Amino acid sequence: MEFNPFAKKYRRGMKRVALVYPNRYVGGIANTGLQYIYAKINEIDAVCERFYSDVFEGLRSVESATPLSEFDVAFFSLQYEADYFKAVEILKKSGFRGIKIAGGPCVMENPLPLLDYFDAFFIGEVEGKLEEIVSAKSVDELSEIPGIFTGKEGNVKRVYSKLGKHMEREIISEGAYGRCFLLEIGRGCVRRCRFCIVRQIYFPPRWRRKEMLPEDVETGKIAIIAPSPSDHPEFREILQHYVEKGKEVSPSSVRADTLNEELSELLKKAGVSTLTIAPETASSELQDVINKGIGEEDVLNAAELASKRFEKVKLYYMVGLPGEDFEDVKAIIEQASRVKKLVRRVEISVNPLVPKPHTPLQWMPFGGKENLKEGIAELKKKLGFLKNEARKVGIEANVSGYKEFALQTILSRGDREVSQILEGANYRKFERYLEAIDVDSTLPWDFIDHGYKKSTLLKEYEKITKTL
Ligand code: SF4
Repeated sequence: MEFNPFAKKYRRGMKRVALVYPNRYVGGIANTGLQYIYAKINEIDAVCERFYSDVFEGLRSVESATPLSEFDVAFFSLQYEADYFKAVEILKKSGFRGIKIAGGPCVMENPLPLLDYFDAFFIGEVEGKLEEIVSAKSVDELSEIPGIFTGKEGNVKRVYSKLGKHMEREIISEGAYGRCFLLEIGRGCVRRCRFCIVRQIYFPPRWRRKEMLPEDVETGKIAIIAPSPSDHPEFREILQHYVEKGKEVSPSSVRADTLNEELSELLKKAGVSTLTIAPETASSELQDVINKGIGEEDVLNAAELASKRFEKVKLYYMVGLPGEDFEDVKAIIEQASRVKKLVRRVEISVNPLVPKPHTPLQWMPFGGKENLKEGIAELKKKLGFLKNEARKVGIEANVSGYKEFALQTILSRGDREVSQILEGANYRKFERYLEAIDVDSTLPWDFIDHGYKKSTLLKEYEKITKTL
């Protein structure tokens, strides 16, 4: 059951816009960007309806079961590379003939693998351009709008918006964070972690001040959304405000080095029962390589604070980092075991690193070794080791397989030709996109201007490679 204050009835002559999330409803409804786009389009002289892959297979709208083929424009939101498969399937099965536009973080990183399927891509945050995009009558007209890429040669500058006042109302439903109000307190990040694409594609970091947030919301639960919420200068005040209103408030994560007695007590009052921290690596040398800045002391200090208040600590790690050896992987189990001495339930979540476009690691090979085969073989060993060892010491483990992340790397770093994977070709045909990239070569995503200098990324990359 969902509460939708924006549903609008179609009247003849109105433009019909489909908002397609090619993944499950629970994820789509928990996305603040989609909530905003939907509400805004329904405010203008157009009607927007939503499509999710698990509702009518993404072929009919949630609101009126209208087939996708009857819409004039389809906006696809691509949050994960793995969603490309479903997006292509929906486009093919639906027989959609209108204007196809894709946006979202994957498009901002590198839209080339999708070039054969969409008429236009929006590079950036679409809020300020929605009306112009919806009223465009042709792809040519669309191509005049800043941020739009239609495949023509030349650079495209990313568009971003100033954060305005937060929406007072939203669609409320059972999403990934439960039945709650999504409160986006910031965008972009003040940190400079070298593996992270957020710092580039959502630059500059922007916060919504406390007075830009709703005084109260209509649900008992609030999910606080931002890449690093506890870096918000008014994070405590915001939390305190809603706690005093009797709300359960859960931030998407908390940086271990921002946690102290006062904040952990406040989080407990807010109803948080699991403390999620992301050290990414347990090795102090690799902390320097990735520039995360969450050391052993921070993790143990957070665990100590958690021990008095929370049921569980969840720790996020990555493997396949540059210069990583087996000792660094063992260090994950050792660190998690030390946390386990303090907190009853500990879970580790481990993913292979995806060396993403627009980050200083973009030239790095998947698996972290110059020799790709060696890197992948080691990655398999490391992931298997972590799974087994965690079980032995009573730590819950959520360890990913490497294939899904290899595919993610190919789809995020690939050129137009990797679209063959979306047509059924084996991803191994494109394994060259997993290899180290020559720093002098032109990259498929170089045409996107995110506002950084490639030479700055290169300096950071060279700093890392010199220490290996
Ligand atoms: S990993 Fe988190 S803290 Fe680091 S730059 Fe990305 S969003 Fe910020």
